[in-house]
Amino acid sequence: MIPYGKQDISKADIDAVLEVLSSDFLTQGPKVPEFERSVAGYAGAKYGIAVNSATSALHVACKVLDLGPGDWFWTTPVTFVASANCGLYCGARVDFVDIDPITWNLCPRALESKLRKAEVEGRVPKVLVVVHFCGQPCDMSAIQDLSQRYGFRIIEDASHAIGGKYRSEFIGGGSFSDITVFSFHPVKNITTAEGGMALTNCDVLARRMRMLIGHGITRDLDVMTHEPDGPWYYQQVELGFNYRMTELQAALGISQMSRLASFIARRHEIARHYDSLLDGFPVITPWQHPDDYSGMHLYVIRVRLDTISRTHRQVFESMRQQGVGVQLHYIPVHTQPYYRAMGFEPEDFPEAMNYYREAISLPIFPGLTDVQQSQVIDSLRQALGSRV
Ligand SMILES: *Cc1c(COP(=O)(O)O)cnc(C)c1O
Repeated sequence: MIPYGKQDISKADIDAVLEVLSSDFLTQGPKVPEFERSVAGYAGAKYGIAVNSATSALHVACKVLDLGPGDWFWTTPVTFVASANCGLYCGARVDFVDIDPITWNLCPRALESKLRKAEVEGRVPKVLVVVHFCGQPCDMSAIQDLSQRYGFRIIEDASHAIGGKYRSEFIGGGSFSDITVFSFHPVKNITTAEGGMALTNCDVLARRMRMLIGHGITRDLDVMTHEPDGPWYYQQVELGFNYRMTELQAALGISQMSRLASFIARRHEIARHYDSLLDGFPVITPWQHPDDYSGMHLYVIRVRLDTISRTHRQVFESMRQQGVGVQLHYIPVHTQPYYRAMGFEPEDFPEAMNYYREAISLPIFPGLTDVQQSQVIDSLRQALGSRV
């Protein structure tokens, strides 16, 4: 089976991890801060806080923006459940903003009209989580304008987007949001096995996130409420978590970072090849903004079901049977049983549902060969049962 995504592990990656294993520190040593500097430096952010997953990063990001019971937070329905769960961990109430049918990202026009209504009803969100879906950046300029007008904070869930650019700025640079989150799960653009990072330019947010990922404990005299009893002293000033990244993960991440640019370039090469191979197929290929550089995490097609005699499910199953590990990113979050129980109906977000009925993710990862790409296209041609 050709998988839809796969990590790229080199000899140098393996050596980097092995070296840590025979060093003094398996956790809380020099590798984690080095990895943080590497990622934050690449993205152009002042601070990077490495954690054990993007999910943890999203959680502490919501926490430090003071999201809590009684608050609303909004996100897109076309994302992984973690983009929405993070607000629920804080006791906030969730709502969604439908996607744009062209970009498949949270739609700024839908956001504006929802905000106008929410203002009247006193339900303006405190936090908006935007997702750069497939790596394609959201319209951050429009979203930032709305955040200033309506007074909400912005977290970028950039789990798909490390290495991409919004206009001239690398994703994570932080000019358009409060905090940006990356994921280093093996299918993502670079990996630390499990892992994530929160980036920010704000020292107050950075310091508080740093504290929350280590049990809410501080040794910082400025933060302590009274003088230390002695040199052994630390204070817990908040209820935090153990969300730390290990030295092994950080060493792998540092080594992977040296190939980030080439990984993204290779992903773009694969995407351009798909674009040309799919010319004439009854499918919609991914839209690209001419001024942005996608992180190109996923390559999603939408099957034009009106022009073929197969169902979406038949096309998907046929490709799987032919050994192509297609996926569907994502089942709209509001349709999950846990969210349905809050009262959401599938058709509350019709563009998300239209997308869900047609979308298929084709394999894309740096090691995908030209021969495998041709196999993917052959299997799609067969699956569509059409004249292409
Ligand atoms: C993968 C992913 C996450 C979760 O990342 P983890 O590191 O596995 O916690 C969150 N949001 C999006 C959009 C993702 O793709």
